[in-house]
Amino acid sequence: MDTFAFTILDIASLLNLTVRHRGGQNMDVDCPLCGKKGKMNLHFGKNVFRCNYCGESGGMISLYAKVYGVDNSTAYREICDSMQLSTGSVRSLPAPVHEDSASPEPEMAPLEDRDQTYRMLLSLLTLSKTHKDNLLARGLTEEDIYRYGYKSTPAFGFVKMIETLESLGCRLDGVPGFYRKEGKWLTSFCSACSGIVIPVVSMDGKVQGAQIRLDRPIGNRKYIWFSSTDKDSGVGAGSPAHFIGDPSDKAVYVTEGPLKATVAHSLSGKTFAAVAGVNQYTALEELLIRLKTNGTETIVETYDMDKLTNEHVEKGCQRLIELCTQYGFQIRRLKWDPAYKGIDDYLLARKKKG
Ligand SMILES: [Zn+2]
Repeated sequence: MDTFAFTILDIASLLNLTVRHRGGQNMDVDCPLCGKKGKMNLHFGKNVFRCNYCGESGGMISLYAKVYGVDNSTAYREICDSMQLSTGSVRSLPAPVHEDSASPEPEMAPLEDRDQTYRMLLSLLTLSKTHKDNLLARGLTEEDIYRYGYKSTPAFGFVKMIETLESLGCRLDGVPGFYRKEGKWLTSFCSACSGIVIPVVSMDGKVQGAQIRLDRPIGNRKYIWFSSTDKDSGVGAGSPAHFIGDPSDKAVYVTEGPLKATVAHSLSGKTFAAVAGVNQYTALEELLIRLKTNGTETIVETYDMDKLTNEHVEKGCQRLIELCTQYGFQIRRLKWDPAYKGIDDYLLARKKKG
């Protein structure tokens, strides 16, 4: 018998997994490893998972470990930290189960509607000096920051914000980040998840979702989605791919993380696409199919340099190569001085050197 002070349900809630179907002994969630809707099955009694799409399986700690690309002991420590358990302690109450998760999640609003709501929402927010300085230090210009719509999460004024959005005819139902409580619409902004709001943009320039770069990371996690999964009338963000540059460019650079992609684009002028995680294969595949139609010939892999040492990142690279081969792209893999982890760090260092 296991003696863990948490269950796979705790892990599911920590990872903010979207529940598609719930049974007595197990439930189906969107796979956080490949992104496929409802394909991962979590077994409560055995505390194990298995994705029927990508085939990943294992125990609950390895689920967390695989999502964040850490080893199992780091995963265990982070889970305990996140749940504020001291390692080895036994908790008397099981984690609360979201009652709403039994009812199916509403459909996500069409891209046009999400774009309108998010653009209006962003126009109501401001950008703090700290956040602006952070973005400038990454290599973005003032003009970039303005053009790409980066803002700070709000600390107050939520009621007025919702009223304004509603009065302007912005759709809230089916838009990730909004949910209902006692008949009133609310947003998922909260003081524990304050940070920089990062618009995630589609190939045709529409804001399809948003990430928040947390001021205070949760464990290993620096970015979360602006999402309202598991809340009344709320929807999960999915994990849409981000795109910046020319949609019919002959060469498209692929990396992990929307902010990184935009910074790298700004520093290099190249066209970048980003998945939210190196193993978000579904979003990646959709992206490649569209690029193929647009006439892109070469995909340049620019995942973080820990691909040399991190099995999780290298696996993402291999899958990218497989997909590129499958869809008939030329693939190039970029490597640079590993002192710089991300392509954005490397490009910035190069620019500074002149
Ligand atoms: Zn999967």
